Amino acid sequence: MLNFTFSNKTRIHFGEQQISQVAKEIPLSAKVLITYGGGSIKKNGVYDQVIDALSEHKVFEFSGIEPNPSYEKSMEAIALVKQENIDFILAVGGGSVIDASKFIAAGALFNGEPWDILAKGATVEAAVALGAVLTLPATGSESNGGSVISKLSTKDKLPFMSDLVQPLFAVLDPNVMNTLPIRQLSNGVVDAYVHIMEQYLTYDVNGKIQDRFAEGLLLTLIEEGPKLFSNETTTNNNTANKYQVNANVMYSATLALNGLIGAGVPQDWATHMIGHEITAVYGLDHAQTLAIVLPRMMWEMRETKEAKLLQYADRIWNITQGDTQSRIKKAIEKTEAFFHSVQMKTRLSDYNLGEDVVDVIIEQLARHGMTQLGEKQLVTLEQSRNILLKSV
Ligand code: NAP
Ligand code: FE
Repeated sequence: MLNFTFSNKTRIHFGEQQISQVAKEIPLSAKVLITYGGGSIKKNGVYDQVIDALSEHKVFEFSGIEPNPSYEKSMEAIALVKQENIDFILAVGGGSVIDASKFIAAGALFNGEPWDILAKGATVEAAVALGAVLTLPATGSESNGGSVISKLSTKDKLPFMSDLVQPLFAVLDPNVMNTLPIRQLSNGVVDAYVHIMEQYLTYDVNGKIQDRFAEGLLLTLIEEGPKLFSNETTTNNNTANKYQVNANVMYSATLALNGLIGAGVPQDWATHMIGHEITAVYGLDHAQTLAIVLPRMMWEMRETKEAKLLQYADRIWNITQGDTQSRIKKAIEKTEAFFHSVQMKTRLSDYNLGEDVVDVIIEQLARHGMTQLGEKQLVTLEQSRNILLKSV
């Protein structure tokens, strides 16, 4: 096992009626900015629950944060935070709202041009306090220090990390999932699955505990994920069952990227870096890009990942027969079939993208210095090109 330091400061309030907890979490003296997206929270009652809970607080609002949140929109919120001297941000939404809120929290107290945090890796030295009410289980952003922001004018989609922007608390009420469109349920299951794979499918360092945690999460998503779409779960007379499915998927997505399974093991993230470029240029949803890239990444890197691929084949898919190549091939086929079972497509051509996009994505990767990706930095532009060509 590798050396590590692990802590997770986000207090999780999980379950029904937990949104009311925000009242106790945010000091009464705080000037609170509620940040949210395009308005789904106004239709499903989450907004009303938050406003009820904060009836004693001084509250401001900032709405209109887009999926794949933009630098441009975030800068408007940064101006508001400065103008009103906001001292607590409550993000109410999915990964996009939470990621934007992290950038807003850091950008508002940043000395200089906040874009440098993303483009130049400038250190975040202070951030406004942040909490989250999660409405879409997928990214794990509710209990980590990561954020991904897009600059629309230049088609950049770049990540940054800072402990200072990790939410102090997060509310996870599985009932918020009841209004999620199928596309977002698919995105959630696939993003969480790929987060686990990015931390699991590397090389063996004897992280037996991390492996078993990761495998437990993968198996839970494989078992529960497809139920989100089945008639048996979605009919109204089965609400108790549906709640349990939601709850298991929701908690899996949080644990997939809260630092637990990634502590003390190598991490990959090449699939995510390539995926970000596809989103930046062609606007595909984050998880849609991951489902396209991951199967081909697994095949392209099959030699350096061989031991873990065989372990994955065995422990996740019970594939134990046949030679090495055929077991790996079957495990990849199973992975892709699982994505299909949660109604996710896995080819660029499914989105009317052809071979001509490959050069564009490679150019983007080169421009962003993404020329040696993965846990061993072995995913060169050459490898990325092969992966993309095979993903058409
Ligand atoms: P999202 O972009 O936050 O939300 C997608 C859509 O779902 C929005 O249109 C939103 O509508 C809607 N929605 C959210 N909750 C809903 C609900 N309960 N009912 C109905 N509709 C709802 O999706 P996401 O997948 O959570 O976030 C994706 C972003 O996170 C990407 O930019 C990705 O790169 C990033 N990401 C971050 C991390 C991290 O660790 N920080 C990891 C992976 C990915 P409204 O806008 O109207 O609310
Ligand atoms: Fe992701």
